[in-house]
Amino acid sequence: MNHKQALKHNIFKYITQSAEELQVESYVIGGFVRDYLLERGDAKDIDVVAVGSGIELAKQVAKNLPNQPKVQVFKTYGTAMLRYEDIEIEFVGARKESYNEDSRNPIVENGTLKDDQNRRDLTINALAISLNQNNFGELLDPFNGLSDLDKGIIRTPLNPDITYSDDPLRMMRAIRFATQLNFKIEATSFKAITDNKERIKIITKERIVVELHKILESKTPSIGFILLEQTGLLDYILPELTALKGIDEIEGQRHKDNFYHTLEVVDNIAKTTDNLWLRWAALLHDIGKAPTKKFQKKVGWTFHAHEFVGSKMVYKLFKRLKMPLNDKMKFVQKMVFMSSRPIVLATDVTDAAVRRLVFDAGDYVDDLMTLCEADITTKNPKKFKKYHNNFQKVRAKIIEVEERDQVRNFQPPVTGEEIMETFNLKPSREIGIIKEAIKEAILEGEIPNEHEAAFELMLKKGKDLGLEVRS
Ligand code: ATP
Repeated sequence: MNHKQALKHNIFKYITQSAEELQVESYVIGGFVRDYLLERGDAKDIDVVAVGSGIELAKQVAKNLPNQPKVQVFKTYGTAMLRYEDIEIEFVGARKESYNEDSRNPIVENGTLKDDQNRRDLTINALAISLNQNNFGELLDPFNGLSDLDKGIIRTPLNPDITYSDDPLRMMRAIRFATQLNFKIEATSFKAITDNKERIKIITKERIVVELHKILESKTPSIGFILLEQTGLLDYILPELTALKGIDEIEGQRHKDNFYHTLEVVDNIAKTTDNLWLRWAALLHDIGKAPTKKFQKKVGWTFHAHEFVGSKMVYKLFKRLKMPLNDKMKFVQKMVFMSSRPIVLATDVTDAAVRRLVFDAGDYVDDLMTLCEADITTKNPKKFKKYHNNFQKVRAKIIEVEERDQVRNFQPPVTGEEIMETFNLKPSREIGIIKEAIKEAILEGEIPNEHEAAFELMLKKGKDLGLEVRS
């Protein structure tokens, strides 16, 4: 079957023409071909292999294109990139790679298309379509990648033990593609990943995190985390999660397996939000449970202060994985720290408790509710319905309280300056005491969030503190 269909974009004509001018063969390869065959929509990244110099081909294409775009050359990798319309095209010369035992960097030689396909990570990523005039649109599939695409199989072109050992990132990629495409990892590949898991240590944290993000962004992230756990990779990457595995039993009392519970929560949240950081929060919301787990006679299993401990662990984990320690990390920390608050609230929804929740969660109160709803994993349909209904009530109350009291991003109705002015004070602790009393009274619902009522309370508190009003 011819695949000219895939090459409708007029960029391909320019590549064909340029390659003919240089007398080199050229092929489109990898993700573009895979996604076209899977009918996953038009890819915006195109990888082109030239049997010859990829850099020269890129330059020739740029020269022929009407807008003559800039070519970005990556000399160390022997690749070049250019943009045309809304797509990014990367050019590489076909190459043959061989690896040393303890180096991440292969010895690279020029090679044939087949050599280049050999060095690819997976059969489904090694498919190429010819851009040459004589067989334009022909699929070159030396490893039965097409059949693997049909059957949903993750397999390596070469002996998997070699493929994964050469570049251990491929283990993460295999699991990531299995998750994104809901494919099965073929048995020898699975075993090779298990055997080579320790080699993941030589891969930079940044590259590992790219794959973790992609797993988390998938429709069913649990597929990836279960594979990471089964192959033993998870122990090297996120030991905080493997520590949640297992069920203990003392005196006939058991707690749930918090690893599998967590994965259910992540799958649930993936159904309702694309927010990657909220998905991270779901993944990490219970990590404090492993270090805080205790069995207490009469009470049973407890995880005292696991939310606080968990939020501290978030910082360490982000730091270890070289993830940003910015507002994204703080958001995840906040979600973990507050992850039980709406649950405590749900059985007794008072205005005061909801005001405090909105005050503490600020703009993230909706995300927090989404997380808590995803956290409902009970298999008892009656309880499931009841818990959801409870959260519906909390959500309704949040809207009601917000409209009335405006405690989200709370601004004190009486300012510090006003207090200093009224009592003729220099900056002092009395000001803090009065401000705190006003805030508390508003959150408790004793006074409305308005200037007049707050001013009155200020006068009263000032009097209690023995302050005199400036005459
Ligand atoms: P996605 O865009 O979803 O990440 P992709 O397959 O296009 O998918 P890229 O990282 O852009 O991913 O890689 C392009 C191609 O390069 C792949 O299809 C594969 O053929 C090859 N490739 C990428 N990384 C590796 C690797 N670590 N080892 C071998 N081949 C790789």
